[in-house]
Amino acid sequence: MNDQVAIVTGSSSGIGKAIATRLSREGWRVVLNGYHSQTEGQLLSAELSGSVYIDADVSTADGANSLVSKTIDEFGRLDVLINNAGIARQIPHSDLDAVDDEFWDQVMAVNLKGPWNMSKAARPHLVATRGQIINTASLAGLKAAGSSIPYAISKAGVIHLTQLLAKALGPDIRVNAVAPGYIDTPLTRDWHPLREFMEENTPARRLGVPEDVAEVVHGLLSMRYVTGTTIPIDGGAHLL
Ligand code: NAD
Repeated sequence: MNDQVAIVTGSSSGIGKAIATRLSREGWRVVLNGYHSQTEGQLLSAELSGSVYIDADVSTADGANSLVSKTIDEFGRLDVLINNAGIARQIPHSDLDAVDDEFWDQVMAVNLKGPWNMSKAARPHLVATRGQIINTASLAGLKAAGSSIPYAISKAGVIHLTQLLAKALGPDIRVNAVAPGYIDTPLTRDWHPLREFMEENTPARRLGVPEDVAEVVHGLLSMRYVTGTTIPIDGGAHLL
């Protein structure tokens, strides 16, 4: 076991769970997180040695601050912050009336303000370890596509935040993002017929699995001269 510590937000499920599992198997001490996900989080924590689960809402400054301070209380350091927690809903882009204010505010708060809150709270600890931040953006932030217009805008914001923070926090902290395409998780499992369309038309001719994202995130950790970038993980779906 190395002594390095990573927080993976939104790791009680899906992509975050795969990232946390990969890091734990590589010897990292991992702080698992979700919101109202104690049961799933504690089950995963029991499986991953050296991990703890902390339930916290990253969309609020209080939630983010408590997640970081409990991490420091537990492990005394922080090397990597993976801002992965996110929410989405399928809303056809042409149906503007189906997008209510509550959804706009919630998707921005979790998907965009969450990474901001967490980066702000983690900054002094990441400076101390010359650490790094990796944000889970989305292909929807790179193309005029995605599950809904507010979601796509939140992820475009995450990509811009990644670039701005890479400039603002370098050279102490590297900041990168990954942009998954359609990944088979509890969030997207019932998204028919998009699921079938992606399976048949993506150049890789399959859906992504959470481990595809975990592989790239793990690779980024050792890419010391890479910062401010966003890497699509989409089986070539950005070409469609
Ligand atoms: P998921 O629903 O399986 O997992 C979401 C996780 O986020 C859960 O652990 C949940 O508890 C946590 N979460 C939700 N709100 C939170 C909050 N306020 N505070 C803390 N944790 C919170 O979803 P997933 O498919 O694994 O998605 C993970 C990330 O990947 C999201 O940011 C999502 O937008 C992004 N993404 C997913 C896909 C895909 O196809 N699945 C594609 C591109 C991007």
